[in-house]
Amino acid sequence: MNTLTHVSQEDTHILHRQLRSGLPLAVGGEGAWLIGADGKRYLDGSGGAAVSCLGHAHPDVLAAMHAQIDRLAYAHTSFFSTEVAEQLADQLVATAPEGMSHVYFVSGGSEAVEAALKMARQYFVEIGQPQRQHFIARRQSYHGNTLGALAVGGNAWRRAQFQPLLIDVTHVAPCYPYRDQAPTETPEQYGQRLVGELSQAIDQLGGENVIAFVAETVGGATAGVLTPVPGYFKAVRELCDRHGILLILDEVMCGMGRTGTLHACEAEGVVPDLLTIAKGLGGGYQPIGAVLAHHRLVDAFRQGSGLFQHGHTYLGHAVACAAALAVQQVIARDGLLDRVQVLGSYLEQRLRAELGQHPHVGDIRGRGLFWGVELVADRDTKQWFDPARKLHAKLKADAMARGILVYPMGGTVDGQAGDHVLLAPPFICSEAEIDFLVARLVESIQAVTSM
Ligand code: PMP
Repeated sequence: MNTLTHVSQEDTHILHRQLRSGLPLAVGGEGAWLIGADGKRYLDGSGGAAVSCLGHAHPDVLAAMHAQIDRLAYAHTSFFSTEVAEQLADQLVATAPEGMSHVYFVSGGSEAVEAALKMARQYFVEIGQPQRQHFIARRQSYHGNTLGALAVGGNAWRRAQFQPLLIDVTHVAPCYPYRDQAPTETPEQYGQRLVGELSQAIDQLGGENVIAFVAETVGGATAGVLTPVPGYFKAVRELCDRHGILLILDEVMCGMGRTGTLHACEAEGVVPDLLTIAKGLGGGYQPIGAVLAHHRLVDAFRQGSGLFQHGHTYLGHAVACAAALAVQQVIARDGLLDRVQVLGSYLEQRLRAELGQHPHVGDIRGRGLFWGVELVADRDTKQWFDPARKLHAKLKADAMARGILVYPMGGTVDGQAGDHVLLAPPFICSEAEIDFLVARLVESIQAVTSM
């Protein structure tokens, strides 16, 4: 019998709660909805943080998890493999971009990025290029909160106090046409300019010293959704190849169907050397992430030391693999990638119709069921709101009061501040639920921008 609905900031012993007041307790989930202890229902318009692709309490996923728990919950990977981990790896490789032959399991996104960074470094040690010691990544990016992932990430605010502890990474401009494409440039010319900047950074470091370029295929958790301009990633891939530099694409947030193709890089026509996935892989039913690796790297490990020198206790956890396998099977069985495209177009159309002319909406951008709305004080000058207003935080609270969850982003980014809202609803939503989400979002934006 549940007697709590809210726990005050003073009463909780959970550290992340201690620092955030007023969060309700969630006690249930049903399809695209979360249910609070007071019975209030919230439409999960952001899937948490682009996690809950199948919504909550999906019966097929629960059944697969129960069945696996009854058989075997955990066996350490230095002693055993499990049938379910093998099946999941088979499925992921069968659907991976061409040439990617192996999967390395971890427990989440940051771990996936850490593993990818170390895999890339070890690859060059194995093939006799140990002088390669440098990563290049992008500003206004997010790759996780562990030290290696934080170092490649380009969010100045998140990095600031840990800066002295971080490995030295060169950051170049992200692909952010709304802010950075010159009025005289076509999207393609803008993309070429960005790749020119990357090329200069490589030349400064010496191409033979660079391990990898790291980027989110579609940016997520820092500056709203950032979709690449046409041709950008193809040109990045060619540049990397010219210098023997690896391409690590981080699809922890945008991958696993979120943008309408299983991997976001499919739409760009590029194959990375390492691809990180997490959130939508297990859909939030279990903590799981993975790195997909190109066979070139795996061959080098096989011919060299014979192992990847890394590992965590819970990698390939049987119940996590069972959950992820079930999530991925449901997506394939129910044709949900097609559904993401159809429902994504509907969401885009609703957002543009309801917010396209709003005086405080500067940009609406996205792909599939992954959309960002950038808020501005002034549409003409694209001036952001004063960060002291903490508009994104107010929007989150207001939206929750109206019964929707949207993922707000704000705070100082490279000395600038912007308020953004990220939408990533479950793939199983109905059109009526999308209508509800957009209607409540419009009310919230209206309410907080006129405060
Ligand atoms: N990479 C990207 C692109 C992400 O969006 C995130 C999480 N928002 C991470 C890595 C880190 O994942 P996690 O929080 O599971 O460690």
